[in-house]
Amino acid sequence: MAQTGKNPVVTLAEKGSWWRMMLAVITSLVLVGISIWVVVSAYKNVERQRDLAFEKEAEAAVDLIGDRVTYLMGQVSGMRSFLVSTDVNSTKWRDYILATDVETKFPEAFSFVYAERVERKNLDEFVKKLKKQEAGNTIYENYVVFPETPQEEMFPVKYLYTQDTEMTPLLGYDLVAIEKAAGIESEKVVRGEQVVSDLIYLKSMVSSSNRRGYAFILPVFTHFGMLEQNPEEKLKYFTGFFAAWISPEKLFGANMVDTPEAVQDFSVFDNSNEVWRSKNRKFDGVVTKKLRVFNKEFVLEFKKPVNYRVSGFGEAVPLMVLFGVVGVNLMWYLTLLSVWLSRRSAVWMAMEATKDLNKFKQAVEGVSDHVVITDVDGRILYANKAVEGITGFSRSEIIGKTPALWGGLMEKEFYEKMWKVIKINKQPYYGELRNKRKNGEIYDAEIHVSPIVDEKGDLAFFVGIERDVSKVKAVDRMKTEFLSIASHQLRTPLSAVKWFGRMLLDGDAGKLSKEQKKYVEQINQSNDREIQRVNALLNVSRIESGRIVVTPKETDFYQLIDSVISELSVGIENEKKKISFSRPKRDLMINIDPDLIQHVLSNLISNALRYSASGQIVRVEVEIEGKIVKVSVVDKGIGIPEEQQQRVFDKFFRATNALKVVTDGSGLGLYLVKTIILSSGGQVGFISEENKGSTFWFTLPLSGMEKKEGEVKLS
Ligand code: ADP
Repeated sequence: MAQTGKNPVVTLAEKGSWWRMMLAVITSLVLVGISIWVVVSAYKNVERQRDLAFEKEAEAAVDLIGDRVTYLMGQVSGMRSFLVSTDVNSTKWRDYILATDVETKFPEAFSFVYAERVERKNLDEFVKKLKKQEAGNTIYENYVVFPETPQEEMFPVKYLYTQDTEMTPLLGYDLVAIEKAAGIESEKVVRGEQVVSDLIYLKSMVSSSNRRGYAFILPVFTHFGMLEQNPEEKLKYFTGFFAAWISPEKLFGANMVDTPEAVQDFSVFDNSNEVWRSKNRKFDGVVTKKLRVFNKEFVLEFKKPVNYRVSGFGEAVPLMVLFGVVGVNLMWYLTLLSVWLSRRSAVWMAMEATKDLNKFKQAVEGVSDHVVITDVDGRILYANKAVEGITGFSRSEIIGKTPALWGGLMEKEFYEKMWKVIKINKQPYYGELRNKRKNGEIYDAEIHVSPIVDEKGDLAFFVGIERDVSKVKAVDRMKTEFLSIASHQLRTPLSAVKWFGRMLLDGDAGKLSKEQKKYVEQINQSNDREIQRVNALLNVSRIESGRIVVTPKETDFYQLIDSVISELSVGIENEKKKISFSRPKRDLMINIDPDLIQHVLSNLISNALRYSASGQIVRVEVEIEGKIVKVSVVDKGIGIPEEQQQRVFDKFFRATNALKVVTDGSGLGLYLVKTIILSSGGQVGFISEENKGSTFWFTLPLSGMEKKEGEVKLS
C-alpha cells in the first residue's frame, strides 16, 4: 500500500489544533483581563467603602466636637446670669465656675474672664469699689487698670479665673486695647450677639506668654431679655463682657477623648491657617468638615490613616474575590492542561492504532489469498490486491458489487445453503466452488466465509477468503487420470492371466498333473488378489474423478449383511475364525444402494477377520437408534496403535503393526468406506486399542440413501 509521508491522524489533529489553540489563548487573555478587572474593582470598591466609612466617622467626630462646644457655650451663657446678681465677688464667682462641670469636660482648659464696662470718669471709683469689695484678697491689693488708652469707655478685667499662671497678669487689663488684635467686635457684642474671637496671642497683652487661644465672648446686661431690645436700649444695660478663653489644643484636643481612633488625626483651619493639628500620622486621604461656632467657621481636615480599614466582612471581600478569581483561573488552566494532555494521548493512541491498522492492512493486502469484506447484503466494501489477481477485475469494478461478479456458476441450492449458514445461523462456511475470471476462464476455489457480529450479536459484515485451487485440482485430476489409466492397463493382462489359468485348469490344453494343477491354482489365487487390488485403485480413481452413482432401492438390510457374512465365511474355517451376527428381531427394509453398502460391509468384516488371530470371533451387531441404523464390526485382533489412529481413513494408510501381519493390503478399503458412507448421509468411526481389538461402525439414516446421478459406479 502506498504510504503517505505523514500519519493522517496527526495531520488531522494538527489541522484542528491551530484555531483551537487561538481560541484557548483568546479565552485565556479574556479570562485574565476579566480577572484583573474583577480584583481591581473589588479593591477599589473596598477603598470606596473605606472612604465612605471614614467620612461618616469624621462627620460623627465633628458632630461630637460641635456638641461639646455648644455645651460649653451653654455653660458660659449660664454664668452670665450669675454675674448680674448684686453681691458677686471674685471668690463667689470662682466657686460658681467650679460648681459647673466645665472643668470636667474641658480639664484645665479655660480661663474665664469678666471685663466690666467702665466710663473713664468713673474709673477711680470703680477701682476703689472693687478693692473694697475684694478686701483681703491679695490679688486685688495692687489692682490697676492698664494700659493707658485715650478711650472714654474701658473694659478692664474685673474677675479672672484661671489655672494657668501665665494668664494671671491679665487682671485689670483693659480689653479695649486689644479689641482689634483679638477680633473682639464690641459692636456685635454690644448688639447682644455672641462672638468667637480670632486667635488671640497673649503676647500682645502679657509679653512673657506664648499662649494663644479663642475667646468666646458674651455681653452681660443688667436686665434679661436684652437680646430682643434695640441697640441703644441695650447699651443702657450693658455692663461688660464675659469671656471664656481656651486654646485650640484644649478646645479640640479635649474633644478627642470619645472620638474613634481613626478620626483622631485632624487639623483645624481658621481662615485657611492651620491653627492646630492633633497628631502627625501617615495618611492617604483627607476628609474636610466645617464646624460653625457663632460667627466663626472652623475647617477640620481629618486625615485618613494609611491602615484605615472598614469593620466586618467588607475588608475580606477583595481577598475572597482574589482567591475566587485565582481559583477560576487555576481551574481553567488545569482544564486546558487536561484537555491538552488527553488530546495528546488520544492522538498518540490513534497514531499507534493507525500504525497497527496499517500493518494489518499491509498484511491483508499482501496475502496471496483473495480477501473481501462485504456488508450484510454481500456488497463488497473492501477487496485486497489478490482479488484483482485472481478474478481479473480491478478494485474500482469490484467495490460496491457482490461476489456474484465472478461467481454464480454453481447451482442455486449451493448459494442458498451458504447464505443460510452464514446469515441465518451466523456460522462460518467452508466449501469448494467454481468461479469465472473476467477473461471468462473458469477456476476452482476454496472459500471460507466468516460472519462478523457486533457486541449485540447482530451481523456486522462478512469476511470472505478465497483460494484459487485450480492448479492443485488439475494436478489431482492428472493423478486420478493416471491412476485410472494405470489400473485399466493393469487389469487387462490380469484378466487374460485369469482366463488362461481357468483354461489350463479346465484341461483345455491337456490334462495337468496334480502338481501342475496346484501351481496353476496358486497362480490364479495370486492373480485374483491382484485383480482385487487393481479394482480398489480403479474405484479410488473413479470416486475422485467424479461423483459416485447412488441408486437406492428397497433392500432387506439383514439379508444383505447375511449374504456378505456367508461369502466371507468361505475359507475361514481352516483358520478357525468365526463371524457372529446379532440384530433386532424385526426385519429392516431400507432404501439403500445394496452394491455400495455391500462394499462397505465386506471391507469392514474382511479387515476384522484379516487383523484377528486364528480361532477368534468377529461380531457384527446392528442397532436401531432413533432415526438411524448403526452397524458395528467388533474384533479382538491386533488393534491400531494410538498415534496412528487419526490417519486410518487416509488413502493408502496401513498401520505399522498391520504391515507386519498382513503384507499385501492396499490401504484403500477404509478410504472407500468413508467416502461411501459420508456421501450416503451417514457417519463412520471406530475405537481401537493395540493388541486388544477394534470396533468399526457406521450409521445410515433409516429414511434411506438419496439418489445421486453420478458418472461412475464402483466395481
Ligand atoms: P488394508 O488393505 O491394509 O486392510 P484398509 O484401508 O482396509 O487397508 O485398512 C487400512 C489399515 O487400517 C490397515 O492396513 C490396518 O492397519 C488398519 N485396520 C483396518 N481395520 C483393522 C482392524 N479391524 N484391526 C486392526 N487394524 C485395522
